[in-house]
Amino acid sequence: MQPETVLKTWFGYDAFRPGQRDVVDTILSGRDCLAVLPTGAGKSLCFQIPALMQPGVTFVISPLISLMEDQVAHLQQKHIPAACLNSSMSKRTYNQTLQDVEAGVYKLMYLSPERLQNQWFIRFAQKNPPSFVVVDEAHCVSQWGHDFRPAYLQIPDFIKTLPKRPLYAAFTATATPCVRQDIITGLGMNDSAAIVRGFDRPNLFFSKKSVADKDRALLDALEKVKDRSGIVYCATHQNTEKVFRLLQRKGYAAARYHAGLTPGERNRTQADFICDRIKIVAATSAFGMGIDKENVSFVIHYNMPQSLEEYYQEAGRAGRNGEESYCLLLYSREDFAINEALARQQEKPERALALLASMWDYAQHEGCLRNYILRYFGEDVTGECGKCSYCKTKPFWQRFTNILRI
Ligand code: ADP
Ligand code: MG
Repeated sequence: MQPETVLKTWFGYDAFRPGQRDVVDTILSGRDCLAVLPTGAGKSLCFQIPALMQPGVTFVISPLISLMEDQVAHLQQKHIPAACLNSSMSKRTYNQTLQDVEAGVYKLMYLSPERLQNQWFIRFAQKNPPSFVVVDEAHCVSQWGHDFRPAYLQIPDFIKTLPKRPLYAAFTATATPCVRQDIITGLGMNDSAAIVRGFDRPNLFFSKKSVADKDRALLDALEKVKDRSGIVYCATHQNTEKVFRLLQRKGYAAARYHAGLTPGERNRTQADFICDRIKIVAATSAFGMGIDKENVSFVIHYNMPQSLEEYYQEAGRAGRNGEESYCLLLYSREDFAINEALARQQEKPERALALLASMWDYAQHEGCLRNYILRYFGEDVTGECGKCSYCKTKPFWQRFTNILRI
C-alpha cells in the first residue's frame, strides 16, 4: 500500500503537508531519521503512517502521560489499534495491555523513556520486538534543550538489547543545529538523515516590549484580542496566580495551570481550554507541550523564558489553524536577573547561561524579529519579514488590528 492510500484510508486526508512525505519515505527506506518540523506541521502522521505500513508493533517514546493519552485517543477514534503503558495504569490493565501486544493487537504502543530501563520490560521487548521505534519530543535528549530528560539518553542502550535493529526515527519542533547534533549522538542514530523543514510560521506576528508595568501592558494587549483564545505564560507559580487573579478581576473567562495545582484542576483547565469553555489560560511552561488546539490566537509571555527555544516553542502554540495570530514577549531586566540566578543554580550553568544570553539578545534585538529567530534555528534568511513589531513601523496596535481585521 502507498503512503497516500494509508493517509486517505486511515486518516481521511487527501494530501501530505510539506515535509511529511519526505520523512515517511526516509523512514521506510530504513535510514535512521531525525525530523525537525515546526509545531503543528503534523509530525505524528509522519511516524503513524510508516507504523501502519510495517508488520508488528511500533514503540513511540513520549515524555508525558497526557501526550500519550491524547495521541492514543486520536488514533482510537480513527479505529487504529493503539495503546499506552504508563505508571498511572492499574497492574491489571498494564498486564492485559502487554498480553495484547504479545497477541499482536496493537500497531502503536506509547511508552515513557523510563519504561525502557525496566529489566522486566526489556525482556518482554526482546521476546516481542518492535519493528519501529519512534522518539517523540526528541529535544528532551539534549542538555542544551529546555526539557532535558536523562532517561532519553538511555534509549540507544534499549535499542541494542533488541534482537534486530528496528526502524528508528526521532521528532522535534525545536532544535538549533547544536541540539540537532546532540539528538543524533544522544540517540545513537547511524547514518541518519536529518530532515529540517521550514521553521517559519508566516501567520505569526512577533512583537516584544520592555515595560515597567507589565499588568498594564498585558491588559492593553488583551483588550485588542477580546473573545479570542490565548495563553499567558508566566515564569513562576506566584506570577501565574497573580495574572490569573488580574484576569478574573477584569472579567476574562480565564483559568490557571501550573505544577502546584492538583492533577484534577490541571486536567479541568486543559479540557476547558480545548473545548473553548474558557478563553485564556495563565500558565507556567508546564502547560501546553503537545496540546493540539487549533484556535489559539495569541501567546503572551508575561515573563521572559530561559531560552529562545522555549520561547519559540511556546509562542508557536498560537495560530496552528493557519490564521493570523499574535505573539508578544513582555520582558524586563528583572526577568533577566531571575533567570540568571536560576541558570547559575543548574548543574551545567554555562549551558543555561549561553541559552539565556541568546534569549536576552533577542529581547534587545533592534532588527527583524522573525529573521533573528530563523537564523538562530539555522535557517538562511535575508531581508525583512514585514510582519513583526520591528518591521511594521506604524503604531503597534494599529498593525495588529489590520492583521486580525478587527
Ligand atoms: P506536531 O506534532 O507536528 O505539532 P500534530 O502531529 O499534532 O503536529 O498534528 C497537528 C494537526 O495537523 C493534527 O490535528 C493532525 O491531524 C493535522 N494533520 C497532520 N497532517 C495532516 C495532513 N496531511 N492533512 C491535514 N491535516 C493534517
Ligand atoms: Mg507532536
